[in-house]
Amino acid sequence: MVMTLRKEIIALLENEQLTAREISQAVHITVKEVYGHLEHISRTRRGAFGMQPAQCLACGFVFAKRTKVTSPSRCPICKSEHIQDPYFFCKG
Ligand SMILES: [Zn+2]
Repeated sequence: MVMTLRKEIIALLENEQLTAREISQAVHITVKEVYGHLEHISRTRRGAFGMQPAQCLACGFVFAKRTKVTSPSRCPICKSEHIQDPYFFCKG
């Protein structure tokens, strides 16, 4: 049986926390396509899907209130663009 791409992404995220970029490399689609899948997964598997928020690597600010799956482009505190991408996970 062939797993759909979305199920494949969910299976990956049940196994380990990954950034959108890591997911895109694992399933060979663009980061933009990954965001589309993650948005869908977050809507359909709300209880199981989770996100380790993005963090500013310059000042340590955590984007805790951000619910979007995309990476923030810069820190609102220190304006640095050196941002750790959010990690995503699914509880099995
Ligand atoms: Zn910062």
